[in-house]
Amino acid sequence: MIRITTVYDNNLSQSELQDDWGFSCVVEHPNGNIIFDTGAKPAILENNLKKLHIDPQSIKYLVISHKHWDHKGGALWLLAQNPNIIIYMPKTWSSSLEKSLLINKKQIHSIKENCPINEACYLILSKNFWINELALGIKTSKGIIAITGCSHTGVLKIAKTMRFVTKEKIHALFGGFHLMRSSKLKIKNAVIGLKDEDINFIAPCHCTGDLALSIFKKEFNSKFLKNGIGSQYLFEV
Ligand SMILES: [Zn+2]
Ligand SMILES: [Zn+2]
Repeated sequence: MIRITTVYDNNLSQSELQDDWGFSCVVEHPNGNIIFDTGAKPAILENNLKKLHIDPQSIKYLVISHKHWDHKGGALWLLAQNPNIIIYMPKTWSSSLEKSLLINKKQIHSIKENCPINEACYLILSKNFWINELALGIKTSKGIIAITGCSHTGVLKIAKTMRFVTKEKIHALFGGFHLMRSSKLKIKNAVIGLKDEDINFIAPCHCTGDLALSIFKKEFNSKFLKNGIGSQYLFEV
């Protein structure tokens, strides 16, 4: 089985966990566990992982979707807990984090094109004028489970690219859809586009925004999965 747990988010689903602006989720997978993004504050990431019984030692791969502080803030803490983690991040980015990681000679993959992590997991790189962003695709018998961080390049573009590159349908789409400052019209267009993609489940969180969340919930109905810190979903491999 594949288990996806949201461990850092500004939407709360369990009261003993701490909510904060940012995003991180853990994918427990037979081919190696992945943490996708690390939230903003190390202490909050530590607290939530502990309460969710996720041991940093059990994590094999770290994907940092993009350079913003609310996605990379816990990375150095995590690497101090488990120095063997293999790291993936977009290439064009010379932040202090990357510099400190390079100085420490951590195992780092600076991604400049779409690439596999292993035979079940794939990274796609999407770009706009100011940012490069990685999204994760996980193969299952029912299609791809896609995870996006902030979707600065557009959630629909990311979903379409994922489908085009993997040549498979998207079974579930998790993460920040970046519609928090979008008009109703723009949100509706995203709904129409994602419906066209024939996605079985959507689980938006983080920067999706309250208005978009309520519209997605109504429009996708039973295909809408509530997503916040502590949300866990199981999928067959
Ligand atoms: Zn961002
Ligand atoms: Zn963000």
